[in-house]
Amino acid sequence: MTTARTIDELRRALAPLGADADVGLVPTMGALHGGHEALARRARAECAVVALSIFLNPAQFSPGEDLERYPRDLEQDLLLAAGWGVDLVFAPTVEEMYPADFATWVDVEGLGGTLEGAARPGHFRGVATVCLKLFNLVRPRRAYFGQKDAQQAALVERMARDLNLGLEIRLVPTARDEDGLALSSRNALLSTEEREAARALPRALAAGERAHAAGEDAEEAARSLLAAEPRLRPDYVRVERLDGRVYLLAAVQAGDTRLIDNVVLEGAVE
Ligand code: AMP
Repeated sequence: MTTARTIDELRRALAPLGADADVGLVPTMGALHGGHEALARRARAECAVVALSIFLNPAQFSPGEDLERYPRDLEQDLLLAAGWGVDLVFAPTVEEMYPADFATWVDVEGLGGTLEGAARPGHFRGVATVCLKLFNLVRPRRAYFGQKDAQQAALVERMARDLNLGLEIRLVPTARDEDGLALSSRNALLSTEEREAARALPRALAAGERAHAAGEDAEEAARSLLAAEPRLRPDYVRVERLDGRVYLLAAVQAGDTRLIDNVVLEGAVE
């Protein structure tokens, strides 16, 4: 596995592959876990070359969010990525990605301002911009995104279509812990008690899924289950259509940590 810390190093690593290389890109913010593994393994199965980026993108965090305490462990990440069959890791510094005179941003209207975008102003501008930069740098044929961040995947898909990027966005189902909690780098920030309370989030979504299947109100069912867990503060619980599927999406606050999750009510993620 090759590790590139600069854009020059990345270009040198990619050059021998040629312009038409069958590259799959897995963009991440590091603190790798089984969710990232699912993406990397899917890319491994579908692409000749698997590139994984590790970049804790400050542009997608607002002031006062958890950028400072976000977990990071590059050494461990590199060991994991190598074990998953990744060929190339791109782990640039902030200065490499955003030099002092950086001035160009991508805004995806509509989707960029709802749900997570409403709760976290500027978040999706940071996401879209960094993804476009990574796509331009790596030139992948496919890029892999997790269902856990379904709105992000739909937004990147929108951008790829609107800007004619000519790459395929692949959506991979959410990887979960044994108790149902979606794997997330932020789970490491939860206290034991918050971690226990967080189990109510997937349970609430499952209740919503059952209600929907029975012709009842999915949001209502999920909200009432969440209301029974006083240690979680719900933000939104919403049914939305994203990229052709109908999702039940929720965001909650557990202590200082924001958790998001969703289930598909209509359609499938395979
Ligand atoms: P992050 O490092 O949190 O920005 O995530 C990088 C990618 O991994 C995104 O496409 C996420 O949607 C995806 N991802 C994160 N957690 C999971 C999970 N539990 N299951 C599947 N994909 C995930």
